[in-house]
Amino acid sequence: MSEYDVIVIGSGAGGGTLVRHLAPSGKRILLLERGGWLRREPQNWLAQDVFVDGRYITPDTWYYADLTPFQPQVHYYVGGATKLYGAALYRLRAEDFGELQHHDGISPAWPIAYEDMEPYYTKAEQLYQVHGARGEDPTDPPASAAYPFPAVSHEPRIQQLSDDLAKEGLHPFHAPCGILLDESNPPYSKCVRCQNCDGFPCLVHAKSDAEVISVRPALEHPNVTLLTGAEVVRLETNPAGTEVSGVVVNIDGHTETHQAHIVVVSCGAANSAKLLLASATDAHPHGLANGSDQVGRNYMFHNSQAVLALSKEENPTIFQKTLGVNDFYFSGGEDFEFPLGNIQMVGKSQAPMFRGEKPGETRFAPNWSLEDVARHAVDFWLSTEDLPSPENRVTLARDGNIVIEYKASNEEPKERLFHQLKEMLANLGMHHDHLLPHHAYLKNEIPVAGCAHQAGTCRFGTDPAASVLNPDCRAHELDNLYVVDTSFFPSIGAVNPALTAMANAIRVGDHLLERLDAHEPRPEPAHA
Ligand SMILES: Cc1cc2nc3c(=O)[nH]c(=O)nc-3n(C[C@H](O)[C@H](O)[C@H](O)COP(=O)(O)OP(=O)(O)OC[C@H]3O[C@@H](n4cnc5c(N)ncnc54)[C@H](O)[C@@H]3O)c2cc1C
Ligand code: SF4
Repeated sequence: MSEYDVIVIGSGAGGGTLVRHLAPSGKRILLLERGGWLRREPQNWLAQDVFVDGRYITPDTWYYADLTPFQPQVHYYVGGATKLYGAALYRLRAEDFGELQHHDGISPAWPIAYEDMEPYYTKAEQLYQVHGARGEDPTDPPASAAYPFPAVSHEPRIQQLSDDLAKEGLHPFHAPCGILLDESNPPYSKCVRCQNCDGFPCLVHAKSDAEVISVRPALEHPNVTLLTGAEVVRLETNPAGTEVSGVVVNIDGHTETHQAHIVVVSCGAANSAKLLLASATDAHPHGLANGSDQVGRNYMFHNSQAVLALSKEENPTIFQKTLGVNDFYFSGGEDFEFPLGNIQMVGKSQAPMFRGEKPGETRFAPNWSLEDVARHAVDFWLSTEDLPSPENRVTLARDGNIVIEYKASNEEPKERLFHQLKEMLANLGMHHDHLLPHHAYLKNEIPVAGCAHQAGTCRFGTDPAASVLNPDCRAHELDNLYVVDTSFFPSIGAVNPALTAMANAIRVGDHLLERLDAHEPRPEPAHA
């Protein structure tokens, strides 16, 4: 008999949420997380420590295709990347589930429709306490429930931007935010609305991350066990290769093997591919579940750019990530009918975030210090969908570390999105009042090492020759192996991926509960 009913590997958006969903069933669940608890300490909120010194980034070495090493911006903690995320919790658009023609090719259809995911998006929004406002964004997909909490209000500078955009005929909307902010009752609000949210851990545990929302409450259930510092290095199978029979873990300097009826991999897109590729056996010579040669392929991470507009007057906004614009999500206008992507605000710049570099375009304000630039910055994040390509892939180097081969797609839509933003701001009449002469913009391309939105690598589909997982996210080739991190995405859309990973984890969780014949949840413990 197996030790556990379910082993889940990785405690981030996918794995953490799944364990939270399964916990009340009473089934014996083991959660294996290679990282530890992210320590609550003053440095959580210090830009120098977080952005310059990379305090919470793994020292892992990954390689580019030419085997040049780099340090990936990934985070190994209970809660995974969500410990540092910006908590913008978007649904994919309904159209993202279908086939979409892009400038550089096709964004393929998912094996399930938006309507299949919708109830789980609603559950995920409720679980992660998303604040938002329906009906403002015309690209929003239909929803069966209102957001559980009202939208986070814009601060005056962002409200002004929103009003000006609306006057231009655009449809700015309140971005969906997973922060535990109660604006109607500040003394009791867990979130204190600080400037150190996007890219920082939350010192007061008021961000809806997977640790706070999922792992901690799951651990209130006596049937859930968490092992931290537990890096899974290999999955073993039965001789026929049809089932995972052992999960091999490096922990505290030794190796141990655990068994379960069901094994769920959720290590993040690159690390899940790594684990499967590293688990080759005679029955799976090219890596576990990789008869299709699809494991590791179709790596995506958004063709993103961080854009900073310098405003002539100061921008005193504290929590800036409250606004989005999707008017160019599906089309760049009459002369360019292809999708461009999503525009949203990011966390407010702080001088140390410029990593000591003198930003190129400060020539527009030659006497400004980095502090001046930060004080006047209005910060945007532009995401264009990168298309899945079999050549964009994760493989393993000889030393066992991850190699990422990646060639960007949709460069033209990305450039056009940037120019739309530039034009939008210029057309708002802001240049006299708000923008420096000549429109001083800083534009940062996000390199392969900035793999925050990594996805793909184990896509789900109906055809075992062209996908790794079936529509339930079970490996086509192994009866008890599932993957629930962003690996399963066949395409990534142009909005942030975490809510889709959370919703899908609940969807797969329902399937597992059925499979384990565990329909009746046990009562929640008092604190869960
Ligand atoms: C700075 C930053 C900002 C972001 N902002 C947003 C945002 O605003 N909105 C949004 O939607 N998304 C955002 N994201 C992306 C979002 O966090 C990810 O899409 C999401 O967390 C992915 O979930 P996952 O389950 O695939 O992986 P993760 O959340 O990364 O979880 C993977 C887990 O697996 C563990 N692990 C890895 N390998 C092993 C192993 N071998 N054994 C055991 N454990 C292992 C890792 O330590 C980690 O805990 C952001 C990410 C970053 C880094
Ligand atoms: S804004 Fe709120 S949730 Fe975000 S880090 Fe600050 S206190 Fe935490």
